[in-house]
Amino acid sequence: MQFLLAIFLLLAGGSFTKEIKPSLASTLTVPADAPIVIIDVGHGGTDLGARSHQPYCEEKRICLQMARLTKRHLNQMGYRVVLTRETDVFISLPKRVEIASQAHGDLFVSIHCNSTRNPTAHGIEVFFHDNRDDKAHSNALKKLAEAVLGRIIRRTEAVSRGVKKGNFYVIRETAMPAILVESGFISNPAERDLLRSREYQDKIARGIVDGIDSFFKKKR
Ligand SMILES: [Zn+2]
Repeated sequence: MQFLLAIFLLLAGGSFTKEIKPSLASTLTVPADAPIVIIDVGHGGTDLGARSHQPYCEEKRICLQMARLTKRHLNQMGYRVVLTRETDVFISLPKRVEIASQAHGDLFVSIHCNSTRNPTAHGIEVFFHDNRDDKAHSNALKKLAEAVLGRIIRRTEAVSRGVKKGNFYVIRETAMPAILVESGFISNPAERDLLRSREYQDKIARGIVDGIDSFFKKKR
């Protein structure tokens, strides 16, 4: 009987470890009660996001690289992190919101790059969703967006395009505080070169992390 029980526990244990998602498994050294930050990685798979042709570059790849760096720094600072995608796959907008709520995220940060017809446009902007029915909540989101934008500008020395109200699905439908970072213009040749470099991606990642950390430090 004990033998059977041991076999059962072994099997149960085996299937349990399989159920831990890779994103959570890699953060197990982080305190179990640490805040959970959802990093929403823009685009993916068939959704390439903004593109440039010479040199060829895709927004979805830059977003994933910046998200991985952001996750690494957040983990080092003791935060739990869940990425809405860890590879080059398509994830629908409702699915991203679902991932965030199932992971019980405390904060949601969506990472994107900008693009426009005007090749001289450049700089960084951060969006929050303005809920007219809850001004206090909207003001708190604006402060969060300002904190993150300010820290990114401090790290990158890029031009700040300011904090803006945005009606994007992922920041509108999420239940936790949510912002969307437009980390620079792929349509601007100079900024695109920066966005493609690991060094600049890391500056943006560290800026995002500084802002997130200040948000949680103020809450405590
Ligand atoms: Zn985008």
